[in-house]
Amino acid sequence: MQVELFDTLSRQKKPLEPKDNTVRIYHCGMTVQSRPHVGHLRGYIVMDALRRFLRFKGYEVRLVQNITDIDDKVIEKSRAEGIDWRMLAERNTGELLTVTDALNIERPTVMPRATQHIEEIINLVSQIIEKGHAYESEGDVYFDVRSYPAYGKLSGKRIDELESGARIEPSENKRDPLDFAVWKAAKPAEPYWYSPWGKGRPGWHIECSAMSAHYLGSEFDLHAGGEDLVFPHHENEIAQYEAATGKGFAKAWMHVEMLNLAGEKMSKSTGHLVLASDVFDKYDPNVLRMFTLRVHYRAQTEYTMEGMDEAQAAWERITTFLTAAESLVPEPALASEYPELDEVLSDDFNTPKAVGMVFDLVKQGNEALASGNKDKLAEATAKLNLALEILGFAPRRDRGGGDIQTLLDLLVSFRTELRKAKAFKWADKLRDMIQAVGLIMEDTKEGTRIRFR
Ligand SMILES: [Zn+2]
Repeated sequence: MQVELFDTLSRQKKPLEPKDNTVRIYHCGMTVQSRPHVGHLRGYIVMDALRRFLRFKGYEVRLVQNITDIDDKVIEKSRAEGIDWRMLAERNTGELLTVTDALNIERPTVMPRATQHIEEIINLVSQIIEKGHAYESEGDVYFDVRSYPAYGKLSGKRIDELESGARIEPSENKRDPLDFAVWKAAKPAEPYWYSPWGKGRPGWHIECSAMSAHYLGSEFDLHAGGEDLVFPHHENEIAQYEAATGKGFAKAWMHVEMLNLAGEKMSKSTGHLVLASDVFDKYDPNVLRMFTLRVHYRAQTEYTMEGMDEAQAAWERITTFLTAAESLVPEPALASEYPELDEVLSDDFNTPKAVGMVFDLVKQGNEALASGNKDKLAEATAKLNLALEILGFAPRRDRGGGDIQTLLDLLVSFRTELRKAKAFKWADKLRDMIQAVGLIMEDTKEGTRIRFR
C-alpha cells in the first residue's frame, strides 16, 4: 500500500515516492533559546511515529532534524541570563535530548546545528547574490522578494497582500519592506563569523535551506515542521534554495498543527506554555505519546489536564491488559503484518484510527482472556505489540529486565541528587552498599553509571 500524506504545497494528498529505498526527510527542529515545552514535542512525536511506520513499510529513513543554536532570541536570552550564548544553547539542547529520549523518540539520522554549517550557509548566500536574487547592504544581505516570482507558492500569500503589512525596522537596511535578511551584520558584542560581507551571522531561514541541501540534496521527499512555520520560514526556505540553484527544493510539505494552551499557541517569548519536564513529573512519557497520537496531526488541539488524565487512563488499559495477558501467553510474539493498520496509517497518517484499533485489540484480548481462549489471546497480543511498536509506545513489563533497569536508574539518580546536595558522605555510603551486593557504581565523564560486576 502506498503511503500518502497531505502536501501543503499542492494542497492535496500526495503519494510518497522516493527515488530509491530511502525516504529523505527534513524536520525543522527547535530554536534552543529556552527549555523544551510540550508544544515542541507534538512534532517530535509525530515525526518519530511516521519514521517508525515508514521503516515498517520497508523504507530506510534519513531524518535530518536541525537545532537552531544561533539567532536573535538565543543572543537576547543569554544576555538576560548573563551566560554565554553557546552555554545556553547547549543546555537547552541537552534538555531536549533528555526529554525526547524519555519519550522513546529515536535520535535523528543527523542533528545538525546551524553554527556547524556556516560555510554552507555563506556559499548559498553567495549563490543567491550571483543569481541576482539577493543584495548586500551595509553588511546585511537581503533576499529580494520581488525578483522571485514564485514567492508565496507554499503559503498562498500574494505580494500585494504582504505589502500592506510590511515595514522596515530602523535597524534594517533593506530596499523593500518585503525583503528578508539572509545574513545579518554583527552588532557590537554579538557573536559573528567572517564572511564576504564582513563579520556577521546567518538569518534563521537560510540555515534550514543550507542544511537540508547539504544532507539531502535537491528534491528530497518531505519537509516537515509546525504549522506556524509555513509563513514566512518555509516560504523563505523554498525561495532561497530554488533561487540559488534553479533546482527544486522539497517534493512535499507536511505541517503538524499547533498544540494550544487555553486557546492560544504556546510561546516561549510570553511564557504561555507547559514545560516538558513538568509533564513528566506527573505522567509516564507514554501518556504524552498517547495524548498526541489520539489526535490527527493536521488538527489543532488543546493541552489540558483532563485530556492528559484521559490519555493516562487509556494507556493504563493497555498496560493492565498486557500484564494480565502474560499469565496465559508468557512470551508474546510480534505480528509481522497488520494490513488494516497499514491502511489507516498510509492514508495521511491517521493515527487516531490506529489508536482506535489498538483499543479494539485490547477489548478482543480481554474477551479472550475472560474465556481462556489462548489462541485468540496470542493473536490479539501479537498484533497489539506490532501496533505499539509502530506507533513508538514503550510498555514496561511488570517483570523481566526492564524493571531492574528502572531500579538501577533510580539508584543512580538518587546518588546524583545526594551529590548535588553536597551530601557526599551519604552518596558514598550508597555506592558502598550497592557494591556490597555485587554491583559496580562508577562516576564517568557522562555521569554516574551502574553495572553488574
Ligand atoms: Zn527550518
